[in-house]
Amino acid sequence: MSPLEPFLHTPRVAYFSMEIALESAIPTYAGGLGVLAGDTVRAAADLELPLVAVSLVSRGGHFRQSFDEAGRQVEQPAPWEPREHATPLAAKVALTLQERQVWVGGWLYVLSGHLGGKQPVLLLDTDLEENHPDDRSITHQLYGEDGSYRLRQEAVLGIGGVRLLQALGFEIRQYHMNEGHSALLAVELLRRHAHAPEELRPGESPFDVPLVRDLCCFTTHTPVEAGHDRFGYDLVQQVLDDFVPIAVLKQLGGEDVLNMTRLALNLSEYVNGVAQRHAEVSRRMFPGYRVHAVTNGVHPYTWTAPPLRALYDHYLPGWCHEPELLVRADCCIPQTALLQAHAEAKRALIARVAERTGVTLQPDLPILGFARRMTAYKRPDLLFTDLERLKAIAAARPFQVVLAGKAHPRDEGGKRLIELLHRHMRELAGVIPMAYLPDYDLDTALLMVSGSDVWLNTPLPPLEASGTSGMKAAFNGVPSLSVLDGWWVEGCIEGVTGWSVGAATEAGHDNDARALYDKLEQVVLPLYSGQLGAADGWARVMQGAIAKNASFFNSHRMMRRYATEAYIR
Ligand SMILES: *Cc1c(COP(=O)(O)O)cnc(C)c1O
Repeated sequence: MSPLEPFLHTPRVAYFSMEIALESAIPTYAGGLGVLAGDTVRAAADLELPLVAVSLVSRGGHFRQSFDEAGRQVEQPAPWEPREHATPLAAKVALTLQERQVWVGGWLYVLSGHLGGKQPVLLLDTDLEENHPDDRSITHQLYGEDGSYRLRQEAVLGIGGVRLLQALGFEIRQYHMNEGHSALLAVELLRRHAHAPEELRPGESPFDVPLVRDLCCFTTHTPVEAGHDRFGYDLVQQVLDDFVPIAVLKQLGGEDVLNMTRLALNLSEYVNGVAQRHAEVSRRMFPGYRVHAVTNGVHPYTWTAPPLRALYDHYLPGWCHEPELLVRADCCIPQTALLQAHAEAKRALIARVAERTGVTLQPDLPILGFARRMTAYKRPDLLFTDLERLKAIAAARPFQVVLAGKAHPRDEGGKRLIELLHRHMRELAGVIPMAYLPDYDLDTALLMVSGSDVWLNTPLPPLEASGTSGMKAAFNGVPSLSVLDGWWVEGCIEGVTGWSVGAATEAGHDNDARALYDKLEQVVLPLYSGQLGAADGWARVMQGAIAKNASFFNSHRMMRRYATEAYIR
């Protein structure tokens, strides 16, 4: 029996994403978007919601990160071998790119949930003998920067993906575009469902936009203008030729350039942003479109460290399938048991830090954790704005810092930030114990969100669409200290689930830094050392993070909403 067979009997939702984080050993992701895609499929597996994910095989992987003596990022290639993790698909399809036939095959990765559910993931691959050498590399590199390469990647994902699903015998009830990268899938559907000339009245278009809109939904992920792909029509003409008339693309994707977000907006009946604040910002960016809000969530089992899993299994059995049960954490989980489980997670992080960096951290001093893609708007340097003030705070109440995160190889600003963080680490040596863990991936992320005591997030509003690592921290009873942007606008209950930094409006770097120092010095660190209120004050906030936030900001709630609002309409 073909390994695909079990998945062909029920109509499925096709979930398209340029990147997907399946496991640490499969480097087909660059950051939060891919992790969200992985959590989406993991939640669908637990909920037995029939899905099929479509992504690119990205054989070249992302990259392995290390640092030189100056603290500069060093990038090593991280290719992976699909054969070791997936089985080859039996079908191949062709599309025409740059007037050449390009064959698209792929791999089946079966995602097995810990509750027994399984979901198919198709990883598209053009590295086939029958292809021209230039075309074999289309699916090598994650997010090619060159416009032509990128457009060909997106054509393989969108057009190749739809054709391959059909060739393999899938019945698709709904197409979900995770970001605009896959918007050409909707154009392929326009073509597939076009009316024959004899069915048309003179002058009537053969393309049935309402029919395609009914089949599609779209999730937009970034308020950063540059995050929305645009291609000039000269390039589109050269790569896609007469795939559909350019005039049709102009109508749907913009007169001047082909804007993939606009294309997806015009061809989807259901559109959403990934947090309430982000949906508001998106409505302003794209006036005239109805943009819903489905706030992101993280996969409960994946993002809960083993000692915390054991704790929840004992006190709130069933929490994995029904994370709403965690709402009882503040009453039903004894604080001593929670503190013990956290101490164990913290020991695991401290051990990893020692092993990877040689830095020794103290189990009884608080650890501030900060890890995410290193890029300017995330402002990883905010904490280090005034080193003298930071030293004074640490002199009164010592704390430690653990950092991690990769910068995109072509993000020069992000790479400078990594270098700067290493410089601060040297400047603070002997005063604030600090470590930078290399090679941030799923495993490192779990160690950090569970082993830190405070999860720090300091983006520049309104540029964080959602952010998810703070939700992961909540699953481990780790409160966030964060700027009010993205999900934290909804998740922050001051002093109950964590703490805010600054006002919800754009306050500027120095004001935000001052607000961060004040909150650390006057609220967070005193509470940790038991000097504000009762000695159980800290554990109370840990319980609050679990009860109020893990119970809500999880992938199961998110998928139930997509199922009832986006997929069934
Ligand atoms: C969760 C996660 C992210 C996203 O974190 P944000 O807080 O949304 O920036 C990025 N990379 C990895 C490896 C993750 O696990």
